[in-house]
Amino acid sequence: MENKVTFLPLGGCGEFGVNLNLFGYNDEWLMVDFGMGFAGDDLPGIEIILPDPKFIEERKDKLLGIVITHAHEDHIGALPHLWTRLRTPIYATPFTAEVIRLKMKEAGLLEQLILHEIPLGGARKFGPFEVQFINVAHSIPEPNLLVIKTPVGNIVHTGDWKLDANPVEGSTTDVAALKKIGQEGVLALIGDSTNAATPGRSGSEGDLRESLKKIFLRYPGRRIVVTSFASNIARLKSVATAAHGAGRVMALAGRSLWRMNEAARKTGYLKDLPPFLSEREATMADPGQIVIMATGSQGEPRAAMARLATGEHPQLDLSPNDVVIFSARAIPGNEKDIARVQTNLRARNINVVTDHEEFVHVSGHPAYDDVVDLIQWLKPKVLLPVHGEVYQLQAHAKIGEVLQVPQVLIPRDGDLIELTPAGARVAGEVHHGILCVDGKKIVSVADRAIHSRKKLAELGTVLVSLALDQDGSLISDPAISTHGIYTEEQQVAGEAELMELVIAAVEDLDDRHIFKNDAVEQAARIAVRRAVNNSHGRKPVAEVHVIRV
Ligand SMILES: [Zn+2]
Ligand SMILES: [Zn+2]
Repeated sequence: MENKVTFLPLGGCGEFGVNLNLFGYNDEWLMVDFGMGFAGDDLPGIEIILPDPKFIEERKDKLLGIVITHAHEDHIGALPHLWTRLRTPIYATPFTAEVIRLKMKEAGLLEQLILHEIPLGGARKFGPFEVQFINVAHSIPEPNLLVIKTPVGNIVHTGDWKLDANPVEGSTTDVAALKKIGQEGVLALIGDSTNAATPGRSGSEGDLRESLKKIFLRYPGRRIVVTSFASNIARLKSVATAAHGAGRVMALAGRSLWRMNEAARKTGYLKDLPPFLSEREATMADPGQIVIMATGSQGEPRAAMARLATGEHPQLDLSPNDVVIFSARAIPGNEKDIARVQTNLRARNINVVTDHEEFVHVSGHPAYDDVVDLIQWLKPKVLLPVHGEVYQLQAHAKIGEVLQVPQVLIPRDGDLIELTPAGARVAGEVHHGILCVDGKKIVSVADRAIHSRKKLAELGTVLVSLALDQDGSLISDPAISTHGIYTEEQQVAGEAELMELVIAAVEDLDDRHIFKNDAVEQAARIAVRRAVNNSHGRKPVAEVHVIRV
C-alpha cells in the first residue's frame, strides 16, 4: 500500500476560474470540478477559457469519477466543452445535477451525459477514495465541502463557502460536522482563498435583504433594475423578497436567469415565491410596481443589462430617474466592461447604485475571520490555499502561518503535490495550461492563430504585394495596405511613404538576393517595420507577397 496521496490542481491556482483539481492514489484518480473562466483583454476575440485536461485525458481509464462541488460556471463551465474528451461519470447533488443537465442539453450532449445524483449530505466511494458531502453556505443552492477520505489521511476540499448566520436560501454551513471532522484529524485543507485578504466576516444574505428593501422604498414610482449573477439564487430570492416587502413584483430579463430559475424551482427551491413576470409582461407593468432582475452584472456586451443601458433591449426600456442596482462584485478583468455599462446608464440620467455607496452585495466567500474559524475547527497538518490569484493565495497562506498550521504550501497549476503523514512536498510538474473557446473550436492559448491575433490587435498589420519581372525589376508600384496603425487622415500618406521605402529596399538588393523570394520578402518586411517603429514606436506584423511574372 502506498503511503502517499497526490493533489494536482490543473486550474484555479494563480487565476480566478478554470477550477480543476485531481486527487491520485496508486495511479487512480478522482477529479473535483471542471470549470471555465473569462478571458481578459489579452486574448482578442476570446470570451471563455478552460483548463487544459491533457494530463488526465491521457489516463482517463484511471479516472474514477468527476465530483462537482456546486453549479457555478467556474466549477462546471468546462463540462459542455471538454467532458466528451473524458466521458467519465459525473457526481453532483440534485440542484447542481439539474443545472449540468440544462447546460449539456443546450450543447446537444444530454443523450451522452453520464450523471449520478448524490443526496445532500451524502457520501460515495471511488476506489481508494471515500467522498463525504458537507453542506456549506455560498451564493447558490447546494454548495458542498468535500471530505475526501484516503488511505493516507483525510483531505478537506472546501469548494466555495462562507459562514452566514442568517442565510436566505439553501443550507447554512454545517459547523457541527466540520468540528467533528477536525476531531477525526485532517491531513490537508484545500481552501477557498477568494476573500482571504478581506478583513472581518463575509456578511449575511438576510441582512442584505433588509438593506435592499430600504433602498427600494426610497424610489417610489421609479422602475428598479437589479443585476447580479444569474446563478445567485439566494440573491434572486433576496431581491424578490425585498421587492414584495416594498410592494413590487419581480420580473426576470435574460436567458441564464430563466435557466437558473427553472433549475431552482424544479429541485424545490424558490417555491414560496410566485412566478416571475416575463420581459414582455414587465413592459406592461407600472414602473413603480416592479423590480426587474437582469443578467449582465459583469458588463457582458450581449447580456440584458448592457442592452438596457444603451436602449437596445428588444422589449424593455428604461427612463431617466430609473434606478439600476449592481448587486455583485466585479470579477477581476471585467472592470472596464462594467464601467462602460454604468457610464451609458449615467449618460441617460439613470441612477446607478453599486456596493461602493450602498449595502447592495455580500460575498459568497469567506473573509479573514471565517477562514480563521475553519482552520481552528479542522486543525489541518497542511494548508493548501486554492481558488484565487497569487495575491489571494498568499493572503490565505498568511492566515495559516499566523495560526501556526504546521505546513503551508501555495500550489501552482500543474504541481504534483505529494501528501504523506509527514507533510506535503512538490514532487514534480505536469502538463497544464489554458484552452480558449475560439468560435466552434477549442485551441491552446499558445496556438498560432491566437498568438498572431494578439499581435495584430496590439501592433497592427502591414500587407505588401509586389510583382517582379524576369530581370528582378519591379513591374509596378507595390501594393500596400495597413490596419490598426494610422489614423484615417494619416493613412494615405503613411502607406505612400511605406511604398517608397519598399521600392528603395527592393531596388537595393544585389543579384544574389533579388532572385530569391525570401530575401525580397525579408527586405520589404524590415523596411516597413523599421519605418513604422520610427514613426509609432512599435513594430507591426508585416506580411509580404512576391509574385514573379
Ligand atoms: Zn461558487
Ligand atoms: Zn468558485
